[in-house]
Amino acid sequence: ADVAMYRAKTESIGMLEYAPAFDKHTPKRLALMTDLGRAIREDQLLLHFQPKIDVNGRFIHGFEALLRWEHPQHGAIPPSEFIPLAETTELIRPLTLWVLDAAMAQCRRWRGAGLNVRVAVNLSTRNLLDDQIVNQVERILANHQVPAHALELEITESAIMADPKRALEALERVHALGVHLSIDDFGTGYSSLAYIKRLPVETLKIDYSFVIDMLEDEQDEIIVRSTINLAHNLGLKVVAEGVESRAILEKLYGMGCDQAQGYYIGRPMTEADAGQWLRRGEWS
Ligand code: C2E
Ligand code: CA
Ligand code: CA
Ligand code: CA
Repeated sequence: ADVAMYRAKTESIGMLEYAPAFDKHTPKRLALMTDLGRAIREDQLLLHFQPKIDVNGRFIHGFEALLRWEHPQHGAIPPSEFIPLAETTELIRPLTLWVLDAAMAQCRRWRGAGLNVRVAVNLSTRNLLDDQIVNQVERILANHQVPAHALELEITESAIMADPKRALEALERVHALGVHLSIDDFGTGYSSLAYIKRLPVETLKIDYSFVIDMLEDEQDEIIVRSTINLAHNLGLKVVAEGVESRAILEKLYGMGCDQAQGYYIGRPMTEADAGQWLRRGEWS
């Protein structure tokens, strides 16, 4: 019902709602945002799912839902082109609700088929600071009869640092529902340790930019190693993203990293391919 409401609402979102201070709203970008409003209503969006596994390869933790847009004229538009733009407008709200709803619908289908996976959804700054978000998450879980622990929300370090006090309040409320929380893109956002320690999060995701060249770049290796140690000292689990080779996976294993995600393990896949991947139990 929420999604329907937001769908209706986006019809009335006009130019006035766009952040006026944002001067990168070229006509082309404004057109893209108008199209995105339509995409939400007209089913041009879909999710891909990328697996996260235990670093020793023994089990699958779940999937991260990643948004895809099949534009009727321009074809596939990558999220890096429309999400940052949507984040500067109100559109990020209905967009995230669409993702949450679709991700939990899929989670429900998998769980109904006996595949007990967790699905992770990315939240933007605006979503985190939205008074409604906790109720909306709760309602979407209830609508799909998905237990809260089967949902994980990934929140970037920079989203949290945008307003640490409000972020902490919101995270505590979501955490109280039983939803898992992780800090995404860790290492890129200048948060203080003292602050991270207070957050009700289970996991830190080390940004892929540190992981990808870890074997060639000694600085990156040091950052990854110390992040793992730091997280463990704070009682947190660590996920490394951007694992593109077996050598990197083995290195992470040696460093005591907990989970891994990346092209070597599995690319983001359609829901059908993700389901097959799960059933094959490739990593179990
Ligand atoms: P992210 O949350 O850091 O997601 C990981 C990105 O890294 C994904 O890109 C994924 O396809 C890519 N990736 C995964 N493994 C590898 C690897 O081994 N090597 C390399 N080079 N890249 C890898 P994608 O799907 O293009 O998404 C880009 C970003 O867009 C995401 O970064 C996230 O910030 C944002 N995004 C995607 N879907 C959503 C969404 O539903 N909501 C929000 N708010 N943001 C989203
Ligand atoms: Ca993410
Ligand atoms: Ca990330
Ligand atoms: Ca990243």
